[in-house]
Amino acid sequence: MILKFLGTGTSTGVPILTCTCTVCKSPDPHDQRTRPSILLEYDGRVVVIDTTPDLRAQALREGLTRLDAVVFTHAHADHILGLDDTRVFYFRQQVPISIYADERCLATIRRTFAYIFDGNYPYGGVGKLDPHLINGPFDLWGLRVTPVPVLHGNLPILGYRFRDVAYITDVSEIPETSFSLLEGLDILILDALRHKPHPTHLSLEQALAIVERLKPRRALFTHVAHELGHEATNARLPAHVRLAYDGLKLEL
Ligand SMILES: [Zn+2]
Ligand SMILES: [Zn+2]
Repeated sequence: MILKFLGTGTSTGVPILTCTCTVCKSPDPHDQRTRPSILLEYDGRVVVIDTTPDLRAQALREGLTRLDAVVFTHAHADHILGLDDTRVFYFRQQVPISIYADERCLATIRRTFAYIFDGNYPYGGVGKLDPHLINGPFDLWGLRVTPVPVLHGNLPILGYRFRDVAYITDVSEIPETSFSLLEGLDILILDALRHKPHPTHLSLEQALAIVERLKPRRALFTHVAHELGHEATNARLPAHVRLAYDGLKLEL
């Protein structure tokens, strides 16, 4: 299986429009972060977690020619607004794109993209989605996916575990009952926004404390804001912990 980071930035992306800070103006391509998403490629299937407003640019960058399913963490704008662009994969493959989300997230997607679900949309050019409600572990073409409930401020959202990899973005607290789903990880991908605490995201220090507790073989941080420069931050992290970056590819 191949896992690619499509995007690793916070909700605004980095650089932030109008910002002139050293990270936003950095010449290091690792400091350019599109909105957070990962892609899994296995057995001829392509699955993405979340469809960010940058999905089209991410797909072009990675030369994506196929998409089979989208698994959503939650319905905030930075995680869903690229959903319309999945229509091109539907036109090409002639099979509705499967989407997986919990009840709250699916309801917001149906509202936000009402025209996609409107069977009588009169203007054409619209995609087709095959929605699936997540209410426990599910199978994606032979890949077992286990939802990991976490808190994003006071909003309950989902992280995911597949094999020995976990993807947990937009999290401020992992409930005790979810820690048991995260034992024995090879790779933990975790939200780490910045140094300063934030009401709905883990700070770098809080993310490191979770890594310390779960002891994955490797940890990669995502949803990174412009307070954290790639090279300077990595220089201060333990050897098995790194900031992820757009385009980072792992073979699992
Ligand atoms: Zn987000
Ligand atoms: Zn969010």
